[in-house]
Amino acid sequence: MNKIEHIGIAVNSIKLAGDIYQKLLDTVIYKTEEVVSEGVITSFLQAGPNKIELLEATNPDSPIAKFIAKRGEGVHHIAFEVNDIVTEIARLKAEGFTLLNDEPKPGADNKLVCFVHPKGTNGVLIELCQSNSY
Ligand code: ZN
Repeated sequence: MNKIEHIGIAVNSIKLAGDIYQKLLDTVIYKTEEVVSEGVITSFLQAGPNKIELLEATNPDSPIAKFIAKRGEGVHHIAFEVNDIVTEIARLKAEGFTLLNDEPKPGADNKLVCFVHPKGTNGVLIELCQSNSY
């Protein structure tokens, strides 16, 4: 895997959290988009080489709504950039990790993504993402 691509933070209100993180990082949100399949609205901010993704649920069945109900707002996942997500999925499966999706799926920010279940990664949801692939 390559660098950490972004850190995802689950929030109740992307509007309120967006204001806070713009102040915190002294920058502006450069992209906001809805990922209908995941039931989320996401906003991205950049701090130097690093990105923060804010995630707000759009419905009660969204994974973000469930996460916040259980654990409250906070760090939701760490995303690693990979060159070839299909190869990484196969490698992680062979290593015994539990993946939340067997096939790459379209995620935010024009990426193909796959999630690794936190039960096999010491409580941290891991996202794999591959850029510019479609
Ligand atoms: Zn993410």
